[in-house]
Amino acid sequence: MASAYQIIDHTYDVVVVGAGGAGLRATFGMAEKGLKTACITKVFPTRSHTVAAQGGISAALGNMGEDDWRWHMYDTVKGSDWLGDQDAIEYMCREAIPAIIELEHYGVPFSRTAEGKIYQRAFGGMTTKFGEGRAYRTCAAADRTGHAILHTLYQQSLKHEAEFFVEYFAMDLIMDEDGICRGVMAWNLDDGTIHRFRAHMVVLATGGYGRAYFSCTSAHTSTGDGNAMVLRAGLPLQDMEFVQFHPTGIYGAGCLITEGVRGEGGYLTNSAGERFMERYAPSAKDLASRDVVSRSMTIEIREGRGVGPNKDHIHLHLEHLDPAVIHERLPGIAETAKIFADVDVAKEPIPVLPTVHYNMGGIPTNYRCEVVRPTPENPDQVVPGLMAIGEAACVSVHGANRLGSNSLLDLVVFGRAAAIRAAEVIEKGSSHRAAPKGGDDLALERFDRLRHAKGEIRTADLRAEMQRNMQNNCAVFRTGEVLEEGVDLMQKAWAKRPHVSITDRSLVWNSDLVEAMELDNLMYQAVVTMNSAANRTESRGAHAREDYPDRDDENWMKHTVVSMDEAGKTTFEFRPVHLYTLTNEVQVFPPKARVY
Ligand SMILES: Cc1cc2nc3c(=O)[nH]c(=O)nc-3n(C[C@H](O)[C@H](O)[C@H](O)COP(=O)(O)OP(=O)(O)OC[C@H]3O[C@@H](n4cnc5c(N)ncnc54)[C@H](O)[C@@H]3O)c2cc1C
Repeated sequence: MASAYQIIDHTYDVVVVGAGGAGLRATFGMAEKGLKTACITKVFPTRSHTVAAQGGISAALGNMGEDDWRWHMYDTVKGSDWLGDQDAIEYMCREAIPAIIELEHYGVPFSRTAEGKIYQRAFGGMTTKFGEGRAYRTCAAADRTGHAILHTLYQQSLKHEAEFFVEYFAMDLIMDEDGICRGVMAWNLDDGTIHRFRAHMVVLATGGYGRAYFSCTSAHTSTGDGNAMVLRAGLPLQDMEFVQFHPTGIYGAGCLITEGVRGEGGYLTNSAGERFMERYAPSAKDLASRDVVSRSMTIEIREGRGVGPNKDHIHLHLEHLDPAVIHERLPGIAETAKIFADVDVAKEPIPVLPTVHYNMGGIPTNYRCEVVRPTPENPDQVVPGLMAIGEAACVSVHGANRLGSNSLLDLVVFGRAAAIRAAEVIEKGSSHRAAPKGGDDLALERFDRLRHAKGEIRTADLRAEMQRNMQNNCAVFRTGEVLEEGVDLMQKAWAKRPHVSITDRSLVWNSDLVEAMELDNLMYQAVVTMNSAANRTESRGAHAREDYPDRDDENWMKHTVVSMDEAGKTTFEFRPVHLYTLTNEVQVFPPKARVY
């Protein structure tokens, strides 16, 4: 019985769910502004997936050559395949510069140029002068940039005395009858207690959902919990069909080899030893944007030019690089390649394959991080009391495809923006209304149902079925037929949810139940992603339909907004793309033909 659980109450001005780069930047930003702030996280903060980010964080600092934030903005709009909201992109690229300087002052140990400035490397899709030259824009701390940033942000959070609830699993939002978010319910994994956090603002910073796929670069904890909480609260998600495949996951293991490797001069070859990217993207070559490189690799493999006994992967070369460069700039890569592929990068190529890496879609927000839910009168209607940031959110600065090094930037710029906005809308320490009646039913009933699940299907088996469906039917190339089959397969998998079995019924460190709750969250993401992909009949950014190979701006330059009910049925609405900017300092970038 759900009502049998004792509930421990807390009240805060702000509750941030998630302690990755986005969650931590927001947490101490809020605390710094005098808001009583709690941060809830299911893993210890420095274990969040942000710690694994390698290549770097973009900002037009111009330390290694001429640069301008307007060029960064142009690249980001173009990289988004004109699906990104240009007001938000302008905000991010412009704020990038103070945000990085601020990180430097907080203590992030960036690599340095000879003059002592922050070191910047080339990354895919980053150009100067609106596409003419190659930009050196990605600030790096060797190949461990995320690690450096996350630790610094955690230190800042401690300094500002934010309160942490570590190893607390957030289950569901508390919504009131007026559609206002009033808090969040969480389960303390360590002692089994249930907690009700009431807050004037809940900030979801729960990261991506890469684990819906079989092969992905993200952590096992990247299960889209916040996205699923939003769907269960009756709110929609946006642009879920756009899933980024990183060209260079290690064949078999899925671990990432950063794009920074190609930024430092690494290149790809097929079975003939040919540098095939020269054919697909004559000017950008190996540093074309990720969707282009992933698709080119897939075509090479399909046409029989893959490497290895099964001709099913591609080679990434670093052997020609100066060992000093590898040692200084890419030490983590050398180690990863040795452990996961048994390759000495100074002597042999690394076997690689496109692997799921990033979710462009997520919880729709405006550039102030407020969650929006479109209504017939207002496509940008704000949901009071709820914000989303980081990979969980869809601001949308990445549109149909994210450029490498723009995600770490998104975390810090919008983590900071959330704090600025919250300080404007929240009256510090103001009293809380009584918790809405029945507001915790959703969380507790689901928790209790899963805890006592007595079905015949193991969590691991249903997870494998979902991951296979996504990997086979919603991959780099898509067709209507394969996607429709995927929709059916996911519907069948969804119908098995009530038959999941749990063997451990305890409340303390019940990893069996955590896994079942995470799988349940992933299933929501898988269903909406597959359906959104089947619904969008054009090719744009990471969404490549073989049956609709062209971008169709007339019919499809709009955001997909998808809701879902408990029967697994999806409903679609659309939001216009913001083709305007915040200031008149930059021209609006109209859609152009794709030239790489
Ligand atoms: C291997 C790898 C390398 C990358 N390299 C780069 C790079 O070089 N440059 C770049 O720009 N981007 C990179 N990215 C992308 C970028 O790192 C991620 O998009 C970003 O780190 C996501 O950060 P986040 O703060 O949104 O979430 P995460 O860092 O994923 O953190 C999520 C947080 O939410 C918490 N959480 C989740 N669910 C719950 C719940 N139910 N209850 C309580 N807490 C919960 C977790 O505990 C965690 O603290 C990389 C990604 C990967 C996977």
